[in-house]
Formats: sequence, C-alpha cells, structure tokens
Amino acid sequence: MLDANESLRDEALVRIDQCASEEEIEQVRIEYLGRKGILTLRLRGLREVPVEERPRIGEQLNRLRLLIEDRLAARLSQLKKQAQERAIREESVDISLSGSRWEPGRVHPVTLMMDEIVDVFLGMGFEIARGPDIEDDYHNFEALNMPKDHPARGMWDTFFVSDDLVLRTHTSPVQIRIMEKRQPPLQIIAPGAVYRHDDDATHSPMFHQVEGFMVDSHIAFSDLKGVLTHFLRQVFREDTGVRFRPSFFPFTEPSAEVDIQCLICGGQGITADRQSCRVCKGSGWLEILGAGLIDPEVFRFVGYDPEKVAGFAFGMGVERIAMLKYGIEDIRLFFQNDLRFLRQFS
Ligand SMILES: [Zn+2]
Repeated sequence: MLDANESLRDEALVRIDQCASEEEIEQVRIEYLGRKGILTLRLRGLREVPVEERPRIGEQLNRLRLLIEDRLAARLSQLKKQAQERAIREESVDISLSGSRWEPGRVHPVTLMMDEIVDVFLGMGFEIARGPDIEDDYHNFEALNMPKDHPARGMWDTFFVSDDLVLRTHTSPVQIRIMEKRQPPLQIIAPGAVYRHDDDATHSPMFHQVEGFMVDSHIAFSDLKGVLTHFLRQVFREDTGVRFRPSFFPFTEPSAEVDIQCLICGGQGITADRQSCRVCKGSGWLEILGAGLIDPEVFRFVGYDPEKVAGFAFGMGVERIAMLKYGIEDIRLFFQNDLRFLRQFS
C-alpha cells in the first residue's frame, strides 16, 4: 500500500511538471483530487484498510493530497509568470527605431474659406449672427416674401421636417430673426450650413452659405456694389473684374447676380492654347453670388417702415467660392474626408 502511494506521488509530480497551460493544470487536478480522482478514491478506500494501519496510511494520503495541491499551485503561478514575461518580451519597444510621426489636425477647407470670407466683412464693420438650422416656414419663406404656394419656393429643393418646419434652404432667415428683434442701423454677416435636396458634382445636400445685409436710413445700390466689389477683390485678386447682372429674388428688389472675371482665362473666354475656357464655358465670367436691395415687403414683415429705411442683402455659397478659388471641380471632395485632399489646405 505504501509503495503504491509512493509511485502515485512520483507519477503525479511528473504530470504536474509537464503541464503547459492552466487548462492542463486543471485537468490534472481533477484527475487526482476531483470527486472521482485517484487520490480521492484512495482516501475513500481507507475503510477497507485494516484498523491498525489506517492512521499511518491516512496521514500519508493526506500529506500526498497537500503536496499535490501545493505543486499544482506552484506550477500554475510559474506558468503565469512565464506568460507575462513572454508578453513583455513581445511587446517591448525598440527605442532606437525612429518614431511614427503624428500628423497634426488641420482646419477643414470649408471652415478656412468661411473664416476668410467672414474676416473681410468683419474688417468692414459687420457683426456675426447665427440662426437655427431647423427653421419654421415663416422665417425660411413667408417673411422673405414667399407666401405658401408661391412659385418662387420651387427655386429651393426643400427638406421638410414637418408641415411647418424645414431644414433651412438658405441663411436668409437670419435676416428676419435679427430685424424682428433689433432696429437699424444693422450690419450683419450670418455664416452657416444650409440644406437642399440636390446632389451632384456642383451641388451637395448640405453646404454652407454666408448671408450678409445692411439696413440704415440711406442705403443705396452703390453701397452694395462697393461692399461686394471690395470683398471679391480681397478674396480673389486685387484687379478682379466684377459685374452685376439683373436677376430675380423674391426678397430683394432690384436683384442682381454678381459675376467675377474668370480666374482661369482672365476673362478672355479662351485659354492660352486658343481653346474655349472650360471653367467659364467661354463667357469670361463666373457667377459668384446673389444680391439686391431688400424688398419693401420684407421690411413690412418685420415691422420696419419701408419709407424710412433701406438696405441691401447678399448671399453666397462657401463651397462654390472655395471651388473657384482653388480650382476644385467636384463639391463632394469636401465631404468625403479623403486626407489626401484635406491635407492640401492649411
Ligand atoms: Zn474662363
């Protein structure tokens, strides 16, 4: 019996030493010490042993149980330590290698362009105002002289949030919100996102506008021409040609489209190799923004007396100006987050 226990001990210790994982340790533990384990069964078998030998063999078996438990625990902690050392070795950093460079973040080209535009107007004494992106029908259309069912509403491909709420189709509602609250003189610039149901190389369902307006007792069309000509020559070239073409907007009268001389062909309409200019389609001019004198009807909506005040307003697409300035042909590049594109601006 004693010999049998000794060989059991030797065998168990070898098995434990051979364990290479936590799972194997657990297997060996169950094999010897589990409910039906070899040692457990032997302890149970003590009943069969003659009474005079029982204490000695019992003590021996108990010592063997403690020894196996001890060795299992020791082998387990040894395995854990080895795993840890291996992990540290594998994760170690070779500090002699050159580091990986962190590319600093940059301001998005649309934000850059918007800041540049706003800066020019701040320099002329304008102040910044903002309004909500989700706008009610009244401020987006009605107070801008577009009653319900007015055909001019069709000029804006509108996203409706509900019957009465829209994603603003332009930044012009900010005009109304400011004039409702304040009295002239006013000189405001309102940058922000606008939304239209349109999506191709030159239209994005979300884009940015800068709206501007000025209201006082004696504002004339010449003031509008002066302000916008100065602005365009700051953003583009000092000698950029600027022209105002008659147009129509429900909220301005008279209204104008403002063009600048083509930046590619210099207003010639043909390029150096005698081809028709692709950018201005041979016209020599690029449409850049819309403007006009604020319609008296708009003043009536905000409670101003059109006999006593006058003003001008203008609105421009930020992406369009950036596209013309930097020669970008697809508006979608701004929103695809391709770092190769974005990194070119700083
Ligand atoms: Zn051209």
